[in-house]
Amino acid sequence: MHHFYRKNGSLFCEGVSLSALAGKYGTPLYVYSARTLREHYQRLDSALAALDPMICFAMKSNSNLSVLRTLAREGAGFDIVSGGELFRVLQAGGEAGKCVFAGVGKTDDEIACALRRGIYAFHVESYSELGQINRIALRMRKKAPVAARVNPNVDADTHRKITTGTYENKFGIPFEEVGEFYGQASRLAGIKLRGVQMHIGSQITSVRPFREAAEKMLPLALTLRARHGIEYFGMGGGLGIVYDPALESGSAAWWKRQKNPPLTPESYAAAIAPLLQPLGMRVVLEPGRFISGNAGVLLASVVNVKKTAHKNFVIVDAAMNDLIRPAFYESYHQIEPLTVKKGRIISSDVVGPICESGDTFCKARALPSLSAGDRVVFFSAGAYGFAMSSNYNSRPRAAEILVDGKKVIVARKREKLDDLIRGEK
Ligand SMILES: *Cc1c(COP(=O)(O)O)cnc(C)c1O
Repeated sequence: MHHFYRKNGSLFCEGVSLSALAGKYGTPLYVYSARTLREHYQRLDSALAALDPMICFAMKSNSNLSVLRTLAREGAGFDIVSGGELFRVLQAGGEAGKCVFAGVGKTDDEIACALRRGIYAFHVESYSELGQINRIALRMRKKAPVAARVNPNVDADTHRKITTGTYENKFGIPFEEVGEFYGQASRLAGIKLRGVQMHIGSQITSVRPFREAAEKMLPLALTLRARHGIEYFGMGGGLGIVYDPALESGSAAWWKRQKNPPLTPESYAAAIAPLLQPLGMRVVLEPGRFISGNAGVLLASVVNVKKTAHKNFVIVDAAMNDLIRPAFYESYHQIEPLTVKKGRIISSDVVGPICESGDTFCKARALPSLSAGDRVVFFSAGAYGFAMSSNYNSRPRAAEILVDGKKVIVARKREKLDDLIRGEK
C-alpha cells in the first residue's frame, strides 16, 4: 500500500508530480510520502490494538528528521542502534521513553547517554554487555531497564545477510541460556528487568517464522513474567514488503490463490495476536522496512545508453553509493520510466557510473527503450536507501523530499562539493 500512482502516464506522489520534483530539485532524488508513512504506522497500530502495542520504528531503515518527525507525531517510538540515532530522535521531537536500544556493541558513552535520557529499554545481547550496563547504571545511581534479546534459533527463510535468529548469527542470547541469564541479571543492583525480546531477521514475507518464534518464546515469557515481573514481549521487526508492484496490483482474489500472500498488518496480527494476548503483556514491535520501504522512491536520470553486441546498458546518475541494496543483498527494485514510454521493449542492464561491477541495479530487465535525459524511478527505496548511502567515488549524496498532500518539504538538501571535504585537511 502506498501513495505513488500514475495519472495520464505520469507518476505522482500524493498530490505532487514526480517529474516536476525531478526538474526542480535534480536527480538522483529520494521522494517520500508522508501519508504512506502515517498509514503504515496506523494500520499496524490498530491491527495490534488488543496487545497494547508499542511500535518502535526501526530508524536505521530511514533516519531522516522529517520522516522521524512524521512518525513521532503519530505517537511512534523508535528502535535505535546508536547514540547518533538517539540524537536524531530527540532532534525530531521523539520521546526517549519510547525508545528501545539494540545492537551488539553499545559503547559506554552511548549507554550513559541513553540512561540519562531515560530510554524505555536496552536490548541486551550478552553477559558482558549486561555487566557493562550494570556498572554504568551504578555509577550514575540509576537502574537500567533491560530486556534480553533472545536468539530463538528459528530460520526466518530470508536472505542469508539479513537472517539473525539462528545460532549461526552473532545476535542474541541462546534460547536455552535465557533463564539463567535473567537469574543472574536479577541479582544486579543497577538492572531492572523490563521485558524479553527477539528479532529473527528482515524481509520476512510469510507469517510462519513469526508464529513459530512466538510459539517457542511463549512459555519462556510466562516464566520470566512470573519470576521477574517483566512487562513486555518484543516481537522484533523484519516484516517484509512487496518489492514488485506488478505483484502488488494483483487483485485480492488473485492473492488468495497464491501460496504466499503478502504480509499485511492484519494478517500479521491475526497470526500472532491469539498467541500473545493471553500473555497479558504489552507487545513491542520494531518494524523498519514495513513502514518506510514502500513509502519512498528514488528518481534518477539516464546519462548514457551503451549498446554492445551482447548488452544494452542504461547508465543512470544514481549509483550504488545512493542505493546499495541490489549490490549488497542482490535485491530487486522495480524500475520504470518516470513517464510512460511507447515503443520497443528491450532487455536492459541498468547500471550506475561507479567503478565497480557491483554497481548494477538490474540485469536483463525488460524495459522500454530509454535514451539520455529520460528519467527513471526505483520503487520501494524508502528503507535502507538513503540511510545506507555514502560518498563513495566522491559523489555528493542525493537530496531527500517529503511530500505531504500537495506540500513539498526539502527533508535534506543535496550535498555540495564542499560537503565532500568538510573536516578534511
Ligand atoms: C534491523 C532491525 C530491525 C528492523 O528490521 P526491518 O526488516 O527493517 O523491519 C528491527 N529490530 C532489530 C533489532 C534490527 O536489527
